[in-house]
Amino acid sequence: MMEKAEQLLQQYYGFPSFRPGQEQAISQVLSGQNTLAVMPTGGGKSLCYQIPGLALPGTAIIISPLISLMKDQVDALNSYGIAATYINSSLSTEEQRQRIFDMANGAYQFVYVAPERFDSGHFLSAVKSMQLSLIAFDEAHCISQWGHDFRPSYRSIVPTLKQIPNLPVFMALTATATREVIKDIMHLIDVPENSVVNTGFARHNLSFRIIKGRDKRDFVEEYLKSRSEESGIIYTATRKDADHLQQLLSKKGFSIGKYHAGMTENQRKQVQMDFVQDEITTIVATNAFGMGIDKSNVRYVIHYSMPMNIESYYQEAGRAGRDGEPGDCALLFSSQDIHLQRFLIDQSPSEEKKQEEYAKLQSMVNYCHTHTCLQQYILEYFEDPTPTEPCGKCSNCTYEGEKQDMTKEAQMVLSCVKRMGERFGAGLTAKVLKGSADQKVKQFRFQTLSTYGIMSNYTEKELTRFIHFLTAEGYLTPGQGRYPTLQLSNEAVSVLKGEQPVVMLVEATTTHQEEEYNPEYFQELRTLRKTIADEKGLPPYVIFSDATLKEFSVYLPENKREMLAIKGVGEQKYEQYGERFLALIKPWSEQADSKPKPSSKPSSSIVKKDPTDERPSHIISFERWDQERKSIEEIASERGLSKQTVESHLLRRAQEIEDFDWGRWFDEEQEKAVLRQYEELEEKKLKPLKEGLPEDYTYSLIKAVLYKHNLMK
Ligand code: ADP
Ligand code: MG
Repeated sequence: MMEKAEQLLQQYYGFPSFRPGQEQAISQVLSGQNTLAVMPTGGGKSLCYQIPGLALPGTAIIISPLISLMKDQVDALNSYGIAATYINSSLSTEEQRQRIFDMANGAYQFVYVAPERFDSGHFLSAVKSMQLSLIAFDEAHCISQWGHDFRPSYRSIVPTLKQIPNLPVFMALTATATREVIKDIMHLIDVPENSVVNTGFARHNLSFRIIKGRDKRDFVEEYLKSRSEESGIIYTATRKDADHLQQLLSKKGFSIGKYHAGMTENQRKQVQMDFVQDEITTIVATNAFGMGIDKSNVRYVIHYSMPMNIESYYQEAGRAGRDGEPGDCALLFSSQDIHLQRFLIDQSPSEEKKQEEYAKLQSMVNYCHTHTCLQQYILEYFEDPTPTEPCGKCSNCTYEGEKQDMTKEAQMVLSCVKRMGERFGAGLTAKVLKGSADQKVKQFRFQTLSTYGIMSNYTEKELTRFIHFLTAEGYLTPGQGRYPTLQLSNEAVSVLKGEQPVVMLVEATTTHQEEEYNPEYFQELRTLRKTIADEKGLPPYVIFSDATLKEFSVYLPENKREMLAIKGVGEQKYEQYGERFLALIKPWSEQADSKPKPSSKPSSSIVKKDPTDERPSHIISFERWDQERKSIEEIASERGLSKQTVESHLLRRAQEIEDFDWGRWFDEEQEKAVLRQYEELEEKKLKPLKEGLPEDYTYSLIKAVLYKHNLMK
């Protein structure tokens, strides 16, 4: 049966292999076991019911809470050439009747409905009369009263369903389930203990970053410039911020829309659609935006201000990279954000609730200050059951720069603020420090201050940034008034007294990872995709994902066989769109002297470049290890990388070359011990493996053995 599943994966979706958890969930459902799958957003839950739905006879009923989600899923299935539809209140009564009629006649392999649909006797009796392959509850946390989006109708249909005579296997899928919710779902739809597939909440394709001490507008502007072709969301804390930022950025010529609850329903719908259709690349929005939006190729989510808690943050940031391709999640932190969130919390009438929210806010603030891995911090916050190693990509893991002692400079700024009477903002303070002859400086006679011009070796912009940094770090607090005026905090006083040093991480501005693709070709491929999408009335990413287009731009497939070798191209998609893309690519591949071959289906290779060296970072690490015979520790400290990162570099190189010297990592005896233990384990995971081995078998050693034998997923 699983061979069939793999074949379907290839044939319809064109994916080379399953993602974690998919295989187990699918095989359980195929063998008739009720199953609960807990996987992160973008983890690929849809496939877990779609493949069984294709493999088993009859129609699959998918219960989904939101109309917009249904439409997206149905569009996607139709684009694979699969008969699917939805029946919901967005249709006329006549259309509904027709679809129910067709459904009863077995015309569909998948039917999406909202839970309320089962209140209709007409629908229910049709369901009773037909052959069902499975019933799936998507977004299954809605079933549980402990879930944050509880929908009573989700829960109340379960008894109705259980009474139908032709009851098939049940499946529940969700990305957010605490232990209580998991238990509740298991109980409700009879999922046995060992049929819960839980892959944890980690989002391995996302890079989390905290940006401090930068002017937020500057940052956003630079950022958008460097990613003008990519879709993204910028979340602001208030409607006003959203309005301002959108206005500012569209004046600068960016393709940008806005979304917040102060707009009319029609306006909001329009923007949402423009975004999904790639008519606009970026949306500035409040947290009102996102629910029910399933756009999979969102490449970045910027938080212009810190949100109120980690729950909101992870949900919003998690809208990046649902297609499994890299997503960047940057949070622009400044200490003002804390005041706003406190203010919002203060509006709550319940004292108990307030205290709870303050505590959550504190965890959010700590996230912005922590020096440990940001992904790990989040997972620990959610008490994720599956421990992971540092992600190797967040701003803390990848911090390569130096720490700089800025105590003296900070003292200059702080004393200047004090001398100016703590009544002015960053701009004027910077002018005074620079020694500017500005009108306003003269007006207040600031040229007579002893701090006038003491930092003239910096530009005004650098000074403003530094002042923002000091504000973000809490040395300066913006006053209460309409215009932010800088005041000294208690910490600032200790800095002035020389009791506390100020250390600044020398941060890179935008660490946009270099991807290996041809941007010109990519742009043309996108244009073609957009044309086809408009013709078919589908969102562009349903045609082909960004990743697939990027691979086209590198591998330049010339015929059907070569195109099928690319990730995301299956028979169905090829039939529908293949030739048009081949026609576009043909002249390019004729021009090219030589072109790379996708050896097997390539996973799009993202290579991070070392700023001082043009070669890929992992090759630099490898050379130091291999030719200069340096240890992992030495390389890590030389390059300012974490040990894990260097290890991953070496392991990556090991996949690329023939004669990797494993002997430097482990001896034969250790190798055998790891393999023996691996054989014995039921759950083939690192942690239990490590626990079953002697103390001195490090994760690094175990991982290396698994890599050598191709046992690492
Ligand atoms: P979820 O519902 O878990 O948030 P989806 O089912 O919407 O996630 O899948 C997210 C993205 O991942 C989709 O673009 C889907 O095509 C892709 N995907 C799913 N499974 C695989 C796989 N095995 N290989 C590659 N891509 C996959
Ligand atoms: Mg989903």
